[in-house]
Amino acid sequence: MDFDMLGLAPRLVNVLKEQGITDPTPIQTQAIPHAMNGRDVMGLAQTGSGKTAAFGLPMIHALLKAGVKPNPKTTRGLILAPTRELAKQISDNLTAYTKGSHLKVALVVGGAGIVAQTKRLAGGVDLLVATPGRLIDLLDRRAVRLDETIYLVLDEADQMLDMGFIHALRRIAPLLAKDRQTMMFSATMPKLMGELAGTYLTDAVRVQV
Ligand code: AMP
Repeated sequence: MDFDMLGLAPRLVNVLKEQGITDPTPIQTQAIPHAMNGRDVMGLAQTGSGKTAAFGLPMIHALLKAGVKPNPKTTRGLILAPTRELAKQISDNLTAYTKGSHLKVALVVGGAGIVAQTKRLAGGVDLLVATPGRLIDLLDRRAVRLDETIYLVLDEADQMLDMGFIHALRRIAPLLAKDRQTMMFSATMPKLMGELAGTYLTDAVRVQV
């Protein structure tokens, strides 16, 4: 199995190859075809399993294919992560996977300058990686809107629940496009996760490694 066979655009497969990424990991093999078919995904996977590429590559593939530029202050995809460190890692990986393309990836987390983040968002971005608190700050300042956001990823959703981000999520989710695709990844599946999945996912495929 290789990334070609999963249906990713040859130019994306080449970018991955340049980075030594040639053989999909199990979570990628399982999740990518469903994600590319537009299905909601509930993925049970740990950090290090390659889950960032599992949710990132299908979005990048679709955005490259669509070829549309984002409108000012909008993002096509939103990836929420519980911590600044994880958000930074995701952003670094997605930036690497979009190398050589016109796609713009932005990172917005607390503890970093909000003015620079506002400027980065002004022209619109393709993929926005955020921690929930800072995203709400930026929404309150009208630095970004989410009505054109058609992809939502909740990464390390179990940690987000533990950290009390459910309230932020309740504020953020209704602002997104109604016909969006949602992917949720978690290392564990506590009972509350089932409720979260029930609220935010529609007819999701469950993948597990
Ligand atoms: P993640 O689990 O998403 O945090 O990924 C862990 C690390 O593995 C990242 O540095 C990725 O760039 C790398 N990685 C992801 N997918 C693959 C793959 N199929 N082959 C080799 N490395 C990968």
